[in-house]
Amino acid sequence: MDFTVKKYKELLQFLVQQRIQVISLDEYFLSRYDKTQRYLILRHDIDRKLRNSVRFAQICSDFGISASFMVRKKYFKYFKSLEQLSVNCFMGYHYEDYTKAKKNRQIALKMFFTHIKQLAQITKQRILSVAAHGNPLSRINEKELFTLITAPKIKDSYLSIIDPVYYFTDTGRTWADDNKTNFYDCGIFVALRKEFNVKTTKELMDFILNTQENLYFTIHPERWNDFGSGWLLQYCKDSLFNIIKRIIRKIKK
Ligand SMILES: [Zn+2]
Repeated sequence: MDFTVKKYKELLQFLVQQRIQVISLDEYFLSRYDKTQRYLILRHDIDRKLRNSVRFAQICSDFGISASFMVRKKYFKYFKSLEQLSVNCFMGYHYEDYTKAKKNRQIALKMFFTHIKQLAQITKQRILSVAAHGNPLSRINEKELFTLITAPKIKDSYLSIIDPVYYFTDTGRTWADDNKTNFYDCGIFVALRKEFNVKTTKELMDFILNTQENLYFTIHPERWNDFGSGWLLQYCKDSLFNIIKRIIRKIKK
């Protein structure tokens, strides 16, 4: 079975065995990695189920892997979990302020910087990396907010990446981007992913073996469950969600 916690561990073990340099977004932006070696940026978006992310952060730490975890505002109140996460990982802000402020730029920017400050206080980390939370049901493109930000010490997880990377995300419970199930996550990386028919985690590992290029993965821990009722429920949710997204995409066209 794919997209289980076991499979996630297999993926990390594979990366360690292959001596792939796995780095967080912060390390990428601060150039704290070996530039003579290829790298893999590992990012996790905490969209739902914070406890899954706490577990994944621990798994990363067990493998000696440093990764980024992007937090939505709604989880700021769970201090203990965020403290736990920040011990071993780099925390980033998963922003949705532009949508919440209904595209009011002034309000959105004020919210954005207030939330970054709050997250820094909770996690006792400097918040450098941010990532837009995409809502396929919304007509607002959250990423537009970052284009209004002039602070050089804030880096966007898509827009500030300057190297070509092979980008993969587990959105829709597949690593493949058919450009139908992914609205805002694709950014500038879509064309790269379409060339390779990587759907399963096993195919992803084969792909890594057959390329020397830099990589970038975005993982949503809530999609990965132990095989059982949680897994099945998430599978059904993802399948239904993919169908809805395709319909919305057709309507928007
Ligand atoms: Zn998100």
